Amino acid sequence: MSTAAADCLFCKFASGAIKPAVVLETEHVLAFKDINPQAPTHVLIIPKRHVATLNDLAAGDAALMGELLLAAKQVAADAGLADSGYRVTINCGAGAGQSVFHVHLHLLGGRHLSWPPG
Ligand code: AMP
Ligand code: ZN
Repeated sequence: MSTAAADCLFCKFASGAIKPAVVLETEHVLAFKDINPQAPTHVLIIPKRHVATLNDLAAGDAALMGELLLAAKQVAADAGLADSGYRVTINCGAGAGQSVFHVHLHLLGGRHLSWPPG
């Protein structure tokens, strides 16, 4: 089992110590609704193991990150977004808007999403 980082909110979600609104769970991955949604569908997808940012990923994490993308695809399909479109985003570092330092994918959909993002 992985070691939860002390004081990491998403590690507490992963361990079940705090229960978010879960939409999908696998052995290594948890997906739950964002508490401050920026679109009709806004789900966060995390590895259960603590990884702070994209910068902290290692070559051995390739399969894990692939699982996150497959989970995003599944959540999007379950939300009826497969054909209408959706966005998957990772903010890396405070300068890009990362506020929770446990790596996560944002899955956004259900409204028009402009490009480029702000
Ligand atoms: P980021 O800014 O990319 O690090 O994304 C962090 C996301 O976590 C934000 O969209 C927050 O709204 C979300 N968030 C923070 N606290 C919670 C919580 N308790 N439950 C669900 N989502 C949360
Ligand atoms: Zn964590």
